[in-house]
Amino acid sequence: MLNNSALLLFGPPGSGKGTQAVLLSEALKVPHISTGDIFRQHVKDGTELGKQVQAIMQSGALVPDELVNRIVEDRLAQPDCAHGFILDGYPRTLPQAKMLDEMLDRLGKSKVVVNLLVDYNIIVARLAARRQCPVCGASYNLVFNPPKKDMVCDRDGAALIQREDDKEEVIRNRFEAYNAQTLPVMDFFRQAGYRLVEVTGGNGAPEELTAVIRARLNG
Ligand code: ADP
Repeated sequence: MLNNSALLLFGPPGSGKGTQAVLLSEALKVPHISTGDIFRQHVKDGTELGKQVQAIMQSGALVPDELVNRIVEDRLAQPDCAHGFILDGYPRTLPQAKMLDEMLDRLGKSKVVVNLLVDYNIIVARLAARRQCPVCGASYNLVFNPPKKDMVCDRDGAALIQREDDKEEVIRNRFEAYNAQTLPVMDFFRQAGYRLVEVTGGNGAPEELTAVIRARLNG
């Protein structure tokens, strides 16, 4: 169904891209590549790159294109990406989209975009209640998808934390970046003739939405 495809998950911050990316990656057996997760790991490890991007991420602004493009190029060259992959949080600007487009042509991948449409009010409520496991990266929501035990990760028992950029004043900046820099990428996908699957999320269990997406991808 998705053999040799690049599946691009698209949607505003908090639309559930990351959650869908994890579920789809398990179901389709292709790697899930999240630029946000890669950068957070660098920040955590205190690498040179981590030091460069930490303040930018905390403000809710976007990391410069050349840094993002470089890590994606390296990642897509890994052997596990040979038969397809899921991109989550990339491309987020027109220059990123153009670079990826060329790269996908070079790699001979077909291009599929899943656009997640979610009501703005649901998103804001979700982001404020989002918590993450600092060890394995699993994502929870205190309202919609709480951990089984209070405030600890179901998988490894680590105490859950709130991402710095999920604090209210930063959420607004992330939406501004999305509207100004990321929405135009959708027009690029349309003009370039990418296969486009649009689904509405935000009002059911994540697994139900994954099933809808899979059915649409098959259809
Ligand atoms: P979100 O929930 O906002 O989609 P992500 O985990 O995808 O969060 O990204 C967190 C932060 O990492 C962004 O606000 C930005 O600073 C940086 N980042 C991630 N991906 C990109 C990208 N493709 N281009 C620029 N910056 C990025």
